[in-house]
Amino acid sequence: MSAKPMTVSYNCREQLCIESAPGAGAMVIFGASGDLTKRKLLPAVYALFRRGLLPDGFAVIGVARTEMSHEEFRREVQQAVIGDATPTEQDASFLARFSYVAGQYTESDTFERLQAELVRVSEVHGTEGNALFYLAMPPTMFEPIVRGLAEHGMLAEEKSWARVIIEKPFGRDLESAVELDRALKKYINESQIYRIDHYMGKETVQNILMLRFANAIFEPLWNHTYIEKVEITVAEELGVEKRAGYYDNAGALRDMFQNHMIQMLSLIAMEPPAVFEADAYRDEIAKLISSIRPLRGQDLATIAVRGQYVESVDPERPAPGYRKEDGVNPKSNTETYVALKLFIDNWRWRGVPFYMRTGKRLPRKSSEIAITFRPIPHSIFKPIRPKDFSQNVLLLRMQPHEGMGLSLEVKSPGSKLCVNTLDMNFSYSDFMHGEDIPDAYERLILDGLLGDQTLFVRNDTVEASWKLFMPLLRAWEDNLDVVPLCFYPAFSQGPKEANEILEGGTLQWR
Ligand code: NDP
Repeated sequence: MSAKPMTVSYNCREQLCIESAPGAGAMVIFGASGDLTKRKLLPAVYALFRRGLLPDGFAVIGVARTEMSHEEFRREVQQAVIGDATPTEQDASFLARFSYVAGQYTESDTFERLQAELVRVSEVHGTEGNALFYLAMPPTMFEPIVRGLAEHGMLAEEKSWARVIIEKPFGRDLESAVELDRALKKYINESQIYRIDHYMGKETVQNILMLRFANAIFEPLWNHTYIEKVEITVAEELGVEKRAGYYDNAGALRDMFQNHMIQMLSLIAMEPPAVFEADAYRDEIAKLISSIRPLRGQDLATIAVRGQYVESVDPERPAPGYRKEDGVNPKSNTETYVALKLFIDNWRWRGVPFYMRTGKRLPRKSSEIAITFRPIPHSIFKPIRPKDFSQNVLLLRMQPHEGMGLSLEVKSPGSKLCVNTLDMNFSYSDFMHGEDIPDAYERLILDGLLGDQTLFVRNDTVEASWKLFMPLLRAWEDNLDVVPLCFYPAFSQGPKEANEILEGGTLQWR
């Protein structure tokens, strides 16, 4: 039984908050007519504007094939950021900074008009020739666009800066990731490439670093001597929705594990960098990923489970099976669920299992990391035995309610000896005094404008991560039946086989 949750208070020390406003620069959004732009990028830019974090010299140029006038694009922006509300004077000044270029990426004329527009906004809005190009596009378009920009001199950095943000997926396997990088590097340097993993922009994900490296109490315990296991879960309630075309080609391992999950694991397990700066920090991430025990040669069936959802059996929550979803191949073997047991072969983590799982159509949306400490070695409270005490668990929650919790064993008042578990819970929303928690894209767009690559993924990390997962992907794709596809009803806890990787079913997922 758990005692009542306890709320924790904290003091914000404004003088220790470091936030810089960027210098002048334009943002160019390729794929300006798309879903990501409307749902995420435009609201994030507007939120930065409201927080006073955009420079005076700022403008946004939307680019896409869809024909639209500047005015029509501004109306789309307005709808995305304030909906049907009447724009205030401030909103009008924000919207006036948006313009639009329509065109095909195969035509030089499109890039010439973009170049002219960049010159215009530099003169009118004072963007000083600097540009952050955001490629909110299918990855097949990354190379042609970067080539077009380079051929028209828009990526040169003699008098100004030019940066390119690309969205995942960064390839669909090691070979294509290497190829993509090679193609981009013909025109730009690593220092100009900003690979977004939006999980890295989440407050609670970044808080892992603060928690580990700004508190003296955790680091001495943060190793195999005191930690028994780590569980990382990213569960989605949704199915494939409108992304079937992409998802059926990708699957959960490519969509979630190769990027978000492995980044979360890195933050939990990495060594402290000497400073929180892009290269020092990303060196440690790369080192950590390279220390994960290769999946090659291990008995894959004991460490990996792949699943696919079938029709819901809950009459209250009907949902079709994955193969019946619009846009999905009716014979698809694409996995919508993956559970893995990973080990990190280094001094700190020797023998500690990292149990990781992600899936679609699970009972509820939830992303969390649970760190379970080892049992106490001896009980002085006889006859209560060491195993009668619950193990301490540090819980870091990314979704749905960003926050964290720590379970402690305490004495219940009254009886001479009565042990109880106290859950100390903290929710980020309590911190925010009614304000929304900044969206991940706000942080990342701001960092792009600031030229801070710390939270963006470096190429060696992308490749190390693909290298890790290739043996599993190959085993699945060669249909070797090494890791068979298991089925689970929509809104269930996932395939029952996933329990097997927890020490043959002797443990339970949280
Ligand atoms: P969309 O499919 O909505 O595409 C964005 C725009 O790109 C479209 O409006 C279209 O504009 C243009 N486009 C699409 N296909 C082509 C093509 N073959 N050639 C040229 N232009 C094309 O993508 P999203 O906005 O959903 O996502 C953009 C990127 O972000 C993708 O890489 C995606 O994987 C990634 N992403 C998206 C997320 C999301 O929530 N949507 C989340 C995480 C990553 P037009 O026809 O007007 O040129």
